Amino acid sequence: MTIILTLQANADAGRLRGELQRLGLWAQPLSNPAGQPAAFALGQHSSHVPSAALAALPGVAHVLASAAGHPLLDALRGQTVRVGPTLRIGAGAPPVLAAGPCSAESADQVLATAVAVKQAGGSLLRGGAYKPRTSPYAFAGAGRDALGWLRDAADRTGLALVTECLAESDAARVAEVADLVQIGSRNMQNFALLRAVGATGKPALLKRGAAATLSEWRLAAEHLLASGCPGVIFCERGVRGVDSETRNVLDLGAVALLAGVDALPVWVDPSHAAGRRDLIAPLARAGLAVGAHGLLIETHPDAATAQSDGAQALPFQDLFALTADLPFGA
Ligand code: PEP
Ligand code: MN
Repeated sequence: MTIILTLQANADAGRLRGELQRLGLWAQPLSNPAGQPAAFALGQHSSHVPSAALAALPGVAHVLASAAGHPLLDALRGQTVRVGPTLRIGAGAPPVLAAGPCSAESADQVLATAVAVKQAGGSLLRGGAYKPRTSPYAFAGAGRDALGWLRDAADRTGLALVTECLAESDAARVAEVADLVQIGSRNMQNFALLRAVGATGKPALLKRGAAATLSEWRLAAEHLLASGCPGVIFCERGVRGVDSETRNVLDLGAVALLAGVDALPVWVDPSHAAGRRDLIAPLARAGLAVGAHGLLIETHPDAATAQSDGAQALPFQDLFALTADLPFGA
């Protein structure tokens, strides 16, 4: 059993830690993004103290317990994640569209795409400034310049911005411009990166590792939350399969489970699941049909010249056709 004690605002954390030690409990302090102690996690091998006794200790606000090891995540069931000034994502809120290029390539490309995303009913602009690439010689993103293009285009069109953070050293810079910080599939279990992104205080979009179990995925979300992240949206983007005709296998059962059983916010990314533009529309519809709270879709003004993932980029007209009869919230 993993137990977390959240602290009252005026709690004396040092005194509480002393009390916990006296009871034979090994307590790990968790800080909020401002660096203040916000909670204590009790070690698995601590002695057993009944919840009611823990709740009665001076300074304790709540006792959260989880046999699966993710009490902070469990506490968010049924709640929405707040993104930017107005968006709420998750159970009870209408599904949202996040769309944009795989890579932000120029200010013009990003702005033209943001205008199209807005026209398609989107709420968020996506685009990579820092790209994880399988080959070290492939385009790795335009970096800081791209962050500026993305923020500017999002502001000019009234969209929120989701963009990937690839390295711990970039976390503060990415979080400064992003409303939602993407953790890429390859980094789902990069725990140092999860800690750095969590500590920025921005909500996170956590993509599923290509061979990650649901339990590993949930625990990765717990890492973010334990570091101060205010909310996590899961993003199913397909897992490794046996066939190469689609890039990955879109695990719709996982989406139905997270959305319908766990009551946690989850999006579907049909672009990286399919790897080909002719399958984006049916997979997007399937994702919404099983309960996804949003779609992450790659679109490009001229897919033939895209620096990355051109084969799966939707032309704007196809994005408009797809979204025309889908129920997106603004
Ligand atoms: C992306 O969103 O462009 C991306 C790199 O996705 P993933 O991490 O799912 O491969
Ligand atoms: Mn991509």
